[in-house]
Amino acid sequence: MPPPNGRLGPGYLTDEEKKNKPKVTKDLIKRIFSYLKPYRLQLVFVLAAILCSAVLTLLPSVLTGKIIDDGLIAQNLRALILYILLSFGVTLLANLIGILESYLNTWIAQHITFDMRNSMYAHLQKMSMRFFTSNNQGDIITRMTSDISGVQQIITNTLTSIISNAVTLTVALVLMFSENWKLALVGIAVVPLFVIPTRSAGKRRWSITKDSQACSDEINGILNETLSVSGQLLVKQFGMEQREYDHYESVNRKMIGLNIKESMAGRWFRMALGTFTNIGPMLIYLVGGIIMMRFDKSITVGQISVLVALLGKMYMPVNQLLNIQVDWIRSMAMFTRIFDYYDMVPEIENAPDALRPSTADGEVEFRGVRFYYEPEREILHDISFTLSKGKCIAIVGPSGSGKSTLINLIPRFYDVIDGCVLFDGTDVRKLDLGYLRENIGIVSQETYLFNGTIRDNLLYAKPDATEDELIEACKRANIYDFIEKQETGLDTVVGNRGLKLSGGEKQRISIARILLKDPALMIFDEATSALDSISEQKIQDAIEPLIATRTSILIAHRLSTILAADEILVIKDGEIAERGTHQELVGAGGVYTQLYETQFSKATEHITPEFSYSEGEN
Ligand code: ATP
Repeated sequence: MPPPNGRLGPGYLTDEEKKNKPKVTKDLIKRIFSYLKPYRLQLVFVLAAILCSAVLTLLPSVLTGKIIDDGLIAQNLRALILYILLSFGVTLLANLIGILESYLNTWIAQHITFDMRNSMYAHLQKMSMRFFTSNNQGDIITRMTSDISGVQQIITNTLTSIISNAVTLTVALVLMFSENWKLALVGIAVVPLFVIPTRSAGKRRWSITKDSQACSDEINGILNETLSVSGQLLVKQFGMEQREYDHYESVNRKMIGLNIKESMAGRWFRMALGTFTNIGPMLIYLVGGIIMMRFDKSITVGQISVLVALLGKMYMPVNQLLNIQVDWIRSMAMFTRIFDYYDMVPEIENAPDALRPSTADGEVEFRGVRFYYEPEREILHDISFTLSKGKCIAIVGPSGSGKSTLINLIPRFYDVIDGCVLFDGTDVRKLDLGYLRENIGIVSQETYLFNGTIRDNLLYAKPDATEDELIEACKRANIYDFIEKQETGLDTVVGNRGLKLSGGEKQRISIARILLKDPALMIFDEATSALDSISEQKIQDAIEPLIATRTSILIAHRLSTILAADEILVIKDGEIAERGTHQELVGAGGVYTQLYETQFSKATEHITPEFSYSEGEN
């Protein structure tokens, strides 16, 4: 009798799954089948293979009857050898077809998930920043990975198992009844004996599996948090090693208990299954024997054996078909989750007749701009200003006043709620998104570098940049001295998110990246975190010539940066509270004066080198 094939566990729906059963509509089914459509031909072959292998797998059971009656009992050696050879041949053929079927099946499933993953990735790339800030990163990744892998499981397991089980069961029943209807009825009466213990053992095992899944999620969570660079930094800073160890150890211990329980539940199940595997055929031998001896002399020993063999083949299909509803609901839920993502309309899209001017000056104008992330909390109210070609504006203001939000509206990371943002005189919503973003370079506060070499990160801005161009950009960004000192130069690996570099080095690499991109408008969101004075000076030296030659916006936290600008906008509570030059604002006694006294003047002291630093700053 075949083993349960690991399918007994998921045979039950969790309470949550029962509550959130997906609505299976005609459209949903249609949509699912649309993914199968390109593989129609292969599917026909799979179907044919399933049918053939189901029928061929059952034939040896029928041949057992012939071997017993026409070979052994009739003492006919020729017939005996013939049926044995036939049985062997049929089994071999069934298995060969089985291999073909599973190859085709896997091929189709892999191709469908390949299509789905690609289209989902392309779709997610189009989603706006709001999607990424409001959705849990783990959720997005789960949908891309586990949910789509689940689809592959559905195709290789659920779909084919429905077909193959239904065919096997039907053929087995037909064969049983055509052999002897009375014995067939006895056989059907015995089936529940196989099914009931499997289901109750399965239920227990499933609940343990769920607990151990939760436990393993918890362990992963602990590992992710505490073994990451920032996590370890926190643990070490607060001396929490022992506490984290104890926490880990306790969850790990819980896991061991659950694993032992799970394996024992499996043991009980195997015992129950083994017992009934033996009792089932015995019952048929008993009842069949009584019928044969007392009531119907025409029944043969071979027929009883055929029945026992066919019954053995029915066990798995019956059990699996009973669980199909669960698999089905789970599959539909998975598809619904995936389609939910597909159905999210990207918030920011290209206008149908988007403009792509041939040149860009990088001029920016805000006209009565209002913006909020959530309607109940407006972040920017009525912002208006103009930045002309070649000029530089510094935006200053208290933390959380809306400075980063304001600049995010220019490359359309978000769209304004009211008013408009113009780029070279055209509403950004009318410009081609690719064009707009090509012409804007942002050095953001949190510099992000991909895990790769410095060269990889630089080439991201200009894939065809020559070695000379890379070196030139690094020199201008004041990072070449540092690169030269590295053994592998530009091929130095920056580490996970650039964590092997200091904050100042990362910022200068990202300045070099922007230099390679050479945009018409440069936005520099200065890091609030303190850098040492040499580092700061190097950044300053890198950006000053940049600002002098192109249109730029600086979110500034340091006086030296502010002084380099043509105009200063002071943002407070989402409004332009003051505007002018440093000289005009510093003595006015307003927000700027306050900021100057509390923040900038201190930064100035910091800039004046009082101590002499040694060269390298790492
Ligand atoms: P800092 O100088 O500290 O960087 P900031 O002036 O740049 O601050 P913003 O980052 O623009 O401030 O944030 C303005 C306000 O908007 C803050 O109160 C912040 O909590 C809120 N905010 C920022 N990003 C989001 C977001 N994605 N969703 C909801 N609210 C946000």
